[in-house]
Amino acid sequence: MSFPSLGLSPSLVQAATGLGFATPTPIQAAAIPAILRGADLLATAQTGSGKTAAFALPLLQQLQEDHHAPKSLRALVLVPTRELAAQVGEVLRGLAKGLEQGLARQPKIAIVFGGVSINPQMMALRGGADVVVATPGRLLDLVEHNALRLSSVGLLVLDEADRLLDLGFAEELQRVLALLPARRQNLFFSATFPAEVQALADGLLRSPERVDIADAPATTPDITQRAIQVDERRRTELLRKLLADEGWSRVLVFVASKYAAEHVAWKLHKQGVFATPFHGGLSQGARTKVLADFKEGGWDVVVTTDLAARGIDIAQLPVVVNYDLPRSPVDYVHRIGRTGRAGEAGLAVSFVTPAAEAHFQLIEKRQGASVAREQLAGFEPQDSVPADLATAPGTGGIKGKRPSKKDKLRAAATAAGVK
Ligand code: AMP
Repeated sequence: MSFPSLGLSPSLVQAATGLGFATPTPIQAAAIPAILRGADLLATAQTGSGKTAAFALPLLQQLQEDHHAPKSLRALVLVPTRELAAQVGEVLRGLAKGLEQGLARQPKIAIVFGGVSINPQMMALRGGADVVVATPGRLLDLVEHNALRLSSVGLLVLDEADRLLDLGFAEELQRVLALLPARRQNLFFSATFPAEVQALADGLLRSPERVDIADAPATTPDITQRAIQVDERRRTELLRKLLADEGWSRVLVFVASKYAAEHVAWKLHKQGVFATPFHGGLSQGARTKVLADFKEGGWDVVVTTDLAARGIDIAQLPVVVNYDLPRSPVDYVHRIGRTGRAGEAGLAVSFVTPAAEAHFQLIEKRQGASVAREQLAGFEPQDSVPADLATAPGTGGIKGKRPSKKDKLRAAATAAGVK
């Protein structure tokens, strides 16, 4: 399979080659011809499988084919986080650069997200843009400021679609959808599509083509999973020992809260580890800098909340550690997908405390795979399972014990009769 055989123009093939893409990945081979045919698409593909180029290449080809059309916003790419907006926008810009000969003018790709001043984004949108990559909230702000109109959008892409269709974004997404023309092509991409989200997606797509390569062995990133049993209070010590013994060069450590990200990073830092926190409480400037420095090797350890779980592409990230387990099994898939990207091998290590054992079993069950439990000499767990978990086996452990913001929204929606 080659890029030209998928129906891509020579200049786009050249642009892909320019980014080092010699042959299409399976998601690209399956999605690109369908998108070029104008079909709606629901694509489930493992994270790191080349999803971005799978929609970016045909999107640019559509602009190229229609380059005599008056300048207007043609394609909208929605993403759930600011970092992902920047990342996807840069891939689009990188590919668009290679297109110069094929077009009367260079397509303008605007990247907009919250947490930074709106004024430069308004300035950048003056004179219009062909493609906007956006987080939903800032997009709506810009529409309200008359910096942008969505009535000419012919192609809508939802990247990490399950997150965008979830309740946390539901209201904003509905407002965006109401501003779009009814006649448009819709492309939904995600590594995971939980059943309730799938039903929502079905309501928005027009007889979609489905691409599901998540389970194909050739596309599953090479990620080894380990589960180490340890007492809660000894996790930082264990992490330090692993950092010292295992020779890990760069590690992304997931924790449950902003506070924990600060606290664990600070404890590691005090012990001489180049560690820094990353979470939604930091300014956007700080967030961008931490990620850029980490990508360039400036930090050995970044301690993060689930903010970094989705879509972020960090090349050569050999290890991900679940210091706290994620609340949902879906987030586990996204977290471990930060490693083992673009064909490299990766390692995902989960710390399993006695209290979290039942929850880890639930994660294993949802994944349909079991991970052997390990104990490290000197770190054998001494704690017993808390009484409330021990007396309520099979309740799913941590998840469901304490209602999350999402759980509360869901309960409120049910109470209000919203389906
Ligand atoms: P994504 O799933 O879009 O985040 O992409 C994961 C990684 O795969 C990125 O680092 C891309 O640069 C890389 N990639 C995407 N398509 C290809 C391809 N056809 N050949 C080689 N690498 C690719």
